[in-house]
Amino acid sequence: MEKLALQYQGKAKKLYATEDPNVLWVEYLNQATALNGLKKDEIKGKGILNNAITSLIFQELSAAGIASHFIEKISESEQLVQKVTIVPLEVVVRNYAAGSFTKRLGLAEGTKLAQPIVEFYYKNDDLADPLINDDTVLALNLATATEIATIKDAARQVNEVLIALFHHLKIRLIDFKIEFGRDTTGAILLADEISPDTCRLWDETTNEHLDKDIYRRDLGELVPVYQEVLRRLENNQEEKTCIL
Ligand code: UDP
Repeated sequence: MEKLALQYQGKAKKLYATEDPNVLWVEYLNQATALNGLKKDEIKGKGILNNAITSLIFQELSAAGIASHFIEKISESEQLVQKVTIVPLEVVVRNYAAGSFTKRLGLAEGTKLAQPIVEFYYKNDDLADPLINDDTVLALNLATATEIATIKDAARQVNEVLIALFHHLKIRLIDFKIEFGRDTTGAILLADEISPDTCRLWDETTNEHLDKDIYRRDLGELVPVYQEVLRRLENNQEEKTCIL
């Protein structure tokens, strides 16, 4: 597979075309951003870590029967994915109150929610990704009612698999953001990345933050924390290989 023209440059990734029109070449960057781009830094090693973590997580999801755009990791910082048209929604799933949710509702961070919540934010940097409801998604033609149902169902399934996976790693899954795309047939597919950049992960015993809040809130060095998440995921892989 060959890397061809740059198609899109995001905050954390570059997407290139390949000779296969249905396959994109993704390069994970070292850039970290927060506060809708107001805080921005180059963090050496972050691209490699997020590529490794996302690849392992998408493989776990696939093993659990959840389809995604992920094809394969091809180098330390690169992977191949199926080309999809991204649905302009940031789909956030919450198990515990944190971040914007605590501010909006006056809850203490870490409050356990009686049931998981799926929220939609409209992907629009100029508007700082506002929270919207299903009616708004329909009224703005962002997705159909069937697609909304598929997305919510998939988001809840991803949540179940990730809660169990992270619990095995002694990590509490507080919340996370995922994105979905439409493939050439119009089918909805999980896309983008799942990494400590897009999840809130707390150590089960110490409540230490093992995610991008380290960077957002200036709590310390990001790289050793992401390395710890990868170490636990890799140990889990090794355990499984030993059992086989
Ligand atoms: N999130 C993300 N990208 C965004 C906004 C949020 O990946 O542009 C993730 C974030 O890491 C957290 C979850 O979505 O795991 C919920 O974030 P929240 O709405 O609490 O916003 P924040 O506090 O990050 O502003």
